Amino acid sequence: MLEGLMMHYPLTMDRILEHGNRLYRHKRIKTLLPNGKMHEYTYGDLYRRVKRLCNVLEGLGLQMGDRVGTFAWNNYQHMELYFGAPLAGGVVHTLNIRLFPEQLAYIINHAEDRILFVDGTLLPLVEQVADRIPHVEHFVLFNVPPGREPRLPGQVHDYEALLADASEEYTWRVQDENQALGLCYTSGTTGNPKGALYSHRSMVLHTMGECQAMALGLTESDVVLPVVPQFHAMAWGLPYAATMVGATLVMPGPHLKPEALAQLIEAERVTVAAGVPTIWNGLYHELRTRPRDISSIRALVVGGSAMPRALIEAYERDLGVNVLHAWGMTELSPLGTVSKLLSHHQDLPAPQKWDVKARQGYPIFGVEMRIVDDAGHELPWDGTTMGELQVRGPWIIRDYFKLEGSSDAFTPDGWFRTGDVVTVHEDGFMTITDRTKDLVKSGGEWISSVELEGHLMAHPDVLEAAVIAMPDEKWQERPLAVVVLAPQAREQVQVEELNAFLEPRVARWWLPDAYAFVEEIPKTSVGKFDKKVLRERLAQGELRPIRAREATR
Ligand code: AMP
Repeated sequence: MLEGLMMHYPLTMDRILEHGNRLYRHKRIKTLLPNGKMHEYTYGDLYRRVKRLCNVLEGLGLQMGDRVGTFAWNNYQHMELYFGAPLAGGVVHTLNIRLFPEQLAYIINHAEDRILFVDGTLLPLVEQVADRIPHVEHFVLFNVPPGREPRLPGQVHDYEALLADASEEYTWRVQDENQALGLCYTSGTTGNPKGALYSHRSMVLHTMGECQAMALGLTESDVVLPVVPQFHAMAWGLPYAATMVGATLVMPGPHLKPEALAQLIEAERVTVAAGVPTIWNGLYHELRTRPRDISSIRALVVGGSAMPRALIEAYERDLGVNVLHAWGMTELSPLGTVSKLLSHHQDLPAPQKWDVKARQGYPIFGVEMRIVDDAGHELPWDGTTMGELQVRGPWIIRDYFKLEGSSDAFTPDGWFRTGDVVTVHEDGFMTITDRTKDLVKSGGEWISSVELEGHLMAHPDVLEAAVIAMPDEKWQERPLAVVVLAPQAREQVQVEELNAFLEPRVARWWLPDAYAFVEEIPKTSVGKFDKKVLRERLAQGELRPIRAREATR
């Protein structure tokens, strides 16, 4: 080994908090409280309260590596836990507040959470599982509605009372960058949910990666609104990224309705807002009926599911808002790709720019990708060949928590199988065709449900569309489009009209054989179309498909 090498400088999360406090201690973190009032404080306040919180956690007996559960909306207390739990040597384990009690209990038990921090507005949900989670010794509550008595076993504490009694002196209990920092379970559409365990190093690198100019490019002058919940893949890393660059942070608390979000964006002059397509679909329709000025937004970040091209176009054309499409997974901390126009796109006409923005984009530095066929052979990046997307990099899990060696999601040569079927253009722009399990396999050929949905949602009378496979005697599977029509169109739109709308846009044999009209597409706990539920409803005869008159193939 040569002498005179660089410093040994562990990439631990305290470095980001220290940096935020040193440089941006007067910058603000705002939270819309359950009562509609705005709570405001600074990164300096955050820093001091995290130190108190670390003392509280040690006082409650937190040992190195212990999991600390959080069950909360996006707010400043949750932000304190993002730093406090890992900097006291523990692991912040964010629990999805929209899970069924059985799943919630399973996850808390699997993670062996010892301390649970609970948003008082969500108490009823935790009380339902309280007698099934024996590892939990302490419940710590904040935002409890006045007069509400918790019905919980074990020791119950008040967050503010504990902080008030704790010292502001604390030496961070983390030295090793490979120590665990956070734990997040995937939504688990099949089988039990599985945990992705992040380390300090992986999360610090992810934060730096996310802030690259070619990624989200966050800076001090941004006002960041994470609508994506803090329990969905660490709010896509935004709380850490905002702290690193000193951006103003706006937390929506429980106020996720389109009207509240529109008001918040306008009032706070938000520049970067992040959420799933369902949220932005709702906001768009809200703004069409009750206009507000959201021109402060420079990037409407969207991921979690495919953002329909029509909605990207509508935001840009009607509202002057730039959409930044990104792809990620809980297993990737979560950011993988972003779709920002490159120099060779600049002279394209607007419609072609929207085509590019509707793709999931290029991998940011830190994420390598390749596509492979069923036999594992690498496929070309030619924009048409479909294959399974595999990734590797320093913020991608090596295995699932406590399931070492039992998952087939990892290849022998060290790549993670995403389960997404994609094409990649020569310039590295990736397009998601489907989840492997959602593809419609018609006569041995694949039909992309995502693409059909994107086209259908461009129809002016279609609010939402989800395409699933319908069993077919001749072709094994054919596409069924489940559609939510705009109220004014409910009596009028015919299936033939929808197929006529699709016909110039897709291959003829892709046209759905049938349509089912519903009031709402069921959503998963993180707001994606829940195709599992749709498939069950179809199997139980609850969907009542209407056949398109013409045989399509
Ligand atoms: P989760 O870990 O719950 O966020 O789910 C990750 C999965 O969501 C990915 O494997 C994709 O199937 C899907 N996904 C995430 N972002 C996008 C996107 N921009 N377009 C299409 N699918 C996406």
